[in-house]
Amino acid sequence: MSVNLERIKTDIHELAEIGRCRDDRGIYRMAFTDADMEGKRWLKDRIEQAGFEPRTDGAVNISAELSGSTDRPRILVGSHIDTVPCAGALDGTLGVIVALECLRCLREQGVVPERTIELIAFSDEEGRFGGMFGSQAVCGQLNPDALATLSDLDGVLLGDELRRHGFDPLGALDAARDPETIASYLELHIEQGPVLDRGQKSVGIVDEITGLFTWSVNLKGEANHAGTTPMEMRHDAFMGLADFASAIPRILDENGSARSRATIGKAQILPGAANTVPGIVEFSLDVRDTSPETLADLGNAFRKALSAIARRRNLMFEFQQKSYLPPVAADPAVVQRLLRQAEQLELTHLQMHSGAAHDAQIMGSMVPVGMIFVPSKNGQSHSPAEWTAWTDIEAGANLMLHSLIDLANPISTT
Ligand SMILES: [Zn+2]
Repeated sequence: MSVNLERIKTDIHELAEIGRCRDDRGIYRMAFTDADMEGKRWLKDRIEQAGFEPRTDGAVNISAELSGSTDRPRILVGSHIDTVPCAGALDGTLGVIVALECLRCLREQGVVPERTIELIAFSDEEGRFGGMFGSQAVCGQLNPDALATLSDLDGVLLGDELRRHGFDPLGALDAARDPETIASYLELHIEQGPVLDRGQKSVGIVDEITGLFTWSVNLKGEANHAGTTPMEMRHDAFMGLADFASAIPRILDENGSARSRATIGKAQILPGAANTVPGIVEFSLDVRDTSPETLADLGNAFRKALSAIARRRNLMFEFQQKSYLPPVAADPAVVQRLLRQAEQLELTHLQMHSGAAHDAQIMGSMVPVGMIFVPSKNGQSHSPAEWTAWTDIEAGANLMLHSLIDLANPISTT
């Protein structure tokens, strides 16, 4: 049994036209915009055309199920169809379309799995209102206060957007599922990095999803005249940042792992004049690893480095943790089954970690999860240039199809 690539192509091309900007060719389906809601309607139509009944829960997650022969805990498979601004056609979307194609195939072939297989397209994964909204709702991680206060960068309240489309914001609390009813969650996603493309592998099987913390750091020195202040008498906040940035490779080397990443993505120098010694720098620090212990070690090491640099440069420092997302391991049994299916289908594959956050990370806090990656050409994502070869899409989709059959028929030999 294999997926129908032509149907997948048609779906990807059609959905890519919803929210497409003529000028930059990017897709703008940010969560709960009119374009996103049109995408959700398109998906529901497609589900109906395939002979399934589309369902919408209180978090506006769209789902459809192929009923199993037993009421044993079900298999969920999905991703998201909302996008960042100026997105490509595959981030999230591919996982939802592949899940739909798997359901279509199974129905056409008359397969009745033991476990129900349910497609789910989660709302606001990309973060217009913070991100992972739909999967957090399913995992029961939302509360009325969050629903009343979440807003986007323009100050638009999530509650107002939901009401505008005819939904009661508090309804998102009803989307929570009983973990006992879910056996596992599977997600296919583009890698969004260069590893599979460079390694010329068709699929990646994810064993861990990286965790991360972000800090906002402030180094305070003394603003002064660039001409009259001798070098040894300066309290130059920017030089502190320069020392800190150049210490990153050593800190990762000594305290991190091969999967550690640290990034200063944003910095501001104040007062910000060419002829003034900088008095203050404010910058962000984004640190990732797949082990919670390593993340903690890195946090300590970065704090120590800041403190030593501040002492040496006569600066004050303070930092604030802005976010923390714990790493999540894919379920080892699911990983083994995905690997076995990849071998049986003779796909070139690689066991790897995910450096980006996904709905699977949230679902992994509640139920066993597994992820399949397909290569991103040149590692590009969150851009109209995002692309994956059709042959790799087909390989990933077939791996998903056979993995679903395997996981939904625990004792069959299919
Ligand atoms: Zn995504």
